[in-house]
Amino acid sequence: MPSPHVVIIGGGIAGLTTAWALAARGVRPLVLERAARPGGVILTEHIDGFTIDGGPDALLIQKPAALQLARELGLGERLFPTLPPRTAFVLRGGRLVRLPEASFLGIPTRIGPFITTDLFSWPGKIRMGLELLVPKRLSNDDESIGSFMGRRFGREAVTYLAEPLLAGIHAGDVDRLSMRALFGRLLEAEHSHGSVIRALRSLKMPASPHGAFMSLPGGVGELVDALVAALPAGTIRYGATAAAVEGAGPYRVHLEGGEALEARAVVLSAPAWATAPLLDGFDAGLAAFCRSVPYASTATVALGFRRDQIGHPMEGSGFVVPRAERTALMAGSWITSKWPMRAPEGMALIRGFLGGAGDPYILDRSDEELRRATLEEMTALLDIRGEPVVSRVYRWPRASAQHEVGHHARLAAFDARLTAHPGLFATGSGFRGSGIPDCVADARKVAGEVAAFLGSESE
Ligand SMILES: Cc1cc2nc3c(=O)[nH]c(=O)nc-3n(C[C@H](O)[C@H](O)[C@H](O)COP(=O)(O)OP(=O)(O)OC[C@H]3O[C@@H](n4cnc5c(N)ncnc54)[C@H](O)[C@@H]3O)c2cc1C
Repeated sequence: MPSPHVVIIGGGIAGLTTAWALAARGVRPLVLERAARPGGVILTEHIDGFTIDGGPDALLIQKPAALQLARELGLGERLFPTLPPRTAFVLRGGRLVRLPEASFLGIPTRIGPFITTDLFSWPGKIRMGLELLVPKRLSNDDESIGSFMGRRFGREAVTYLAEPLLAGIHAGDVDRLSMRALFGRLLEAEHSHGSVIRALRSLKMPASPHGAFMSLPGGVGELVDALVAALPAGTIRYGATAAAVEGAGPYRVHLEGGEALEARAVVLSAPAWATAPLLDGFDAGLAAFCRSVPYASTATVALGFRRDQIGHPMEGSGFVVPRAERTALMAGSWITSKWPMRAPEGMALIRGFLGGAGDPYILDRSDEELRRATLEEMTALLDIRGEPVVSRVYRWPRASAQHEVGHHARLAAFDARLTAHPGLFATGSGFRGSGIPDCVADARKVAGEVAAFLGSESE
């Protein structure tokens, strides 16, 4: 194969999308992937008729970049939404309580459903309603999700909404994660309307007929398979670990084992912590930023049962668990209630989500301990009888980037420093965007910048 124009370090969704977008522009990319398979944290397995997503299982509709990519890869007809009823539950006092309808990320957009819910105490409900009267903050500085939600909606909303929902989807700490990096639109809502509730109501968002998420019959892994199939043969090298970057157009990428590759441009798309050592001898400032991005570790445990083993109706997509409830589970998904085609007829698949910033030693436990803990808690909550017919444990060490307060400002300094190295680019969840849609959108943007750089170089 002729030598590549661009070496991409990391074959997760960010690196693969960058490669695909570059190849479509006639650029020759080479993806170096440390593992023996593509996709990074995206992993789908097919076991005994069950389709199990070990990592991500949902593509957000509101951020359409991932769905758009799926359509461009010919998967448009295969995308399907979550099954109704599209509700979720929150564990409070050991009981699963339905999240009130008419909410956006748990924030009320209509009063009625919030008055009747058991999820909040009366003082808590009144405090949330007073959000309409809380003056807007004048400072434009970043703040944590906990600070923003506590200021606007009160502490109970932080404990039972913001922490399990807004921080929980990032496996993060509600008092550390950045509002600006993760929920900038809510900050803007406060500034434009003086109240988040007022802003959400003024949007008069028609309820999406498809709910909030979509997936594919073969799991999210189908997106990775389609990307890989669309790349020119030989674009990905598996079992290839980048060890150091040096030079300045051409760059040299050293691999573990001693080999070195030359390319006019390099895209860093491994996790930030894995990128840091590559840059130590190259630019200590860039390496320091990469090292400063914290990551949380998680595990998911998938359990398959006969449907008649589970007493709970599981009418919804699953539940989240506030840390105040002191359980090992952070969340549980009722996969076969959430998605079609995930289990054989008469069977049910559920999945527990453990670890995160609040439980940093989760992966010290053995697979069997994780499986037991999940089974015990699910058994109590869902009235399960007997053992699962299928169980799988997935370990995700340092897989969830934590965009903490100030992330955007630190990233801006990193980006400014990157411009001192023309032809060097960075993308992926450690840098910009923390879910699949954001990673796809940023990867496509970066691919455009790489192509423009190569074009300007050859002029
Ligand atoms: C359990 C879990 C559930 C999630 N659920 C959802 C969800 O439902 N929806 C959603 O949108 N998002 C979800 N996310 C987030 C989303 O999956 C990630 O943000 C996204 O997939 C990250 O992609 P990435 O390419 O940036 O990184 P990664 O997927 O981490 O890929 C980085 C790649 O770099 C490779 N690598 C590392 N070091 C080197 C090296 N030195 N040389 C070569 N290769 C290297 C790694 O092996 C890896 O393949 C979830 C995340 C987790 C962990």
